[in-house]
Amino acid sequence: MTPPRRMLRAGEVLFAEGDAPTGAYLIEAGELEMSTVVRGRRLVLSRLRAGELVGEMAVFDDGPRSTTAVALVDSELYAIDPEQVTERLAKTDPVIRALIESLLHRYRSVVRSYREASPPSAFDPEPSFEQLRGLAIARADAAAFDQATPTEGVDKLRLESELRQALADDGLDVRYQPILHIASGRVAGYEALIRWNHPERGPVSPMELVGLAEESALIVAVGEYVFDTACRAVTRLIDAGAEPSPFIAVNVSARQLQHPGLVQRIVERVEAAAVPRGSLKIELTESQSFDDVQVEAAIALCHRHGIGVALDDFGTGYSHLARMHRLQFDTLKIDQGFTRALLDEPRVHHVVEAIVAMARALDAQIVAEGVESGEVLEVLRMLGCDYAQGFLIGQAERLDHLVERLRAS
Ligand code: C2E
Ligand code: MG
Ligand code: MG
Repeated sequence: MTPPRRMLRAGEVLFAEGDAPTGAYLIEAGELEMSTVVRGRRLVLSRLRAGELVGEMAVFDDGPRSTTAVALVDSELYAIDPEQVTERLAKTDPVIRALIESLLHRYRSVVRSYREASPPSAFDPEPSFEQLRGLAIARADAAAFDQATPTEGVDKLRLESELRQALADDGLDVRYQPILHIASGRVAGYEALIRWNHPERGPVSPMELVGLAEESALIVAVGEYVFDTACRAVTRLIDAGAEPSPFIAVNVSARQLQHPGLVQRIVERVEAAAVPRGSLKIELTESQSFDDVQVEAAIALCHRHGIGVALDDFGTGYSHLARMHRLQFDTLKIDQGFTRALLDEPRVHHVVEAIVAMARALDAQIVAEGVESGEVLEVLRMLGCDYAQGFLIGQAERLDHLVERLRAS
């Protein structure tokens, strides 16, 4: 993957008028001057500073660059992958899309007609720019347009570019939370949980990271990173003497699953890593947006390659029962909400009891998430739950720590 950060020296041209469009940039530091040539004279259109976008038209359409962008001082930019925008644009309200397309179309045609029509003598750099803008977008529209370029959107684009950079720089991390086999009292496996320690913001929650990555194709690269890392982790744990040979469960969201060929690629990566059969599992999260046909095909493919499939956060969202007879999950992970209320609410106790009985009948295993106390673990044992995961058993840890501990024992 090409790292998105780009440094420009003062005087360096980012792109020139007429160039093919290669994407947009977010200015992180420095200043750029945008200009165009009208009847042989250079007209400065604007100066763009940190926090502003440059060349953004290129991600909307593939018209040639209508301006030249030059760094006035040493500048730092983040490339915006056109995919970051095009997928959002494709999913956006058709009315908004039409508005953007019409604004762009108008802007480009005004620039063109101005260039062709304006007599050199009437040329005056300052008013001309006003004229350009004024013609392109009526003043009222322009005010609305300025307001409609919310910092939230720019912040999101920046964070996404930083996430791509973190992926390219090995700046992401995967932690492993132990899963206890209750009957034997041994750790049977681990759940891989992604971590990103942002240089300025500190830790970014995995929910935010995954949610952000899911808005573009970036989620594919993030998912592959977690799978590759988890495969290497399995090998290291086995080499360090983990007994019995552990499994690692990797989370896959419904949105990830929608990317064509994703499960096929996961399977290929697991095969290429040559980890023992059964040592990689997937956990399907956010069941509310599952497409059952897709999930069924994914489960079948995984099973052919010895990859177990768990339904995460069972009992929440739309993990409805009609699905249970059709989809052959190997494991149901009882959501933390049930585990937490297990001691205090008798009805929850009955529900968990019923879930365990159902899982038995369907030949699926049960993992209770969010186990934080010994009393809860005892109740789960009595109910016949197979596995427990939670702070009582252990937090998500670095692989190095796990390996050191295994070697020491
Ligand atoms: P999840 O798959 O249900 O993972 C369990 C979450 O509960 C983890 O939060 C874990 O740290 C937390 N947890 C574990 N034991 C306890 C406990 O005893 N008490 C409490 N209060 N919390 C506990 P985390 O790491 O913040 O992850 C949140 C969610 O983000 C995950 O929920 C999963 O849906 C998603 N996620 C994490 N890593 C990935 C990934 O690589 N890919 C995808 N698609 N999603 C991921
Ligand atoms: Mg999970
Ligand atoms: Mg869960």
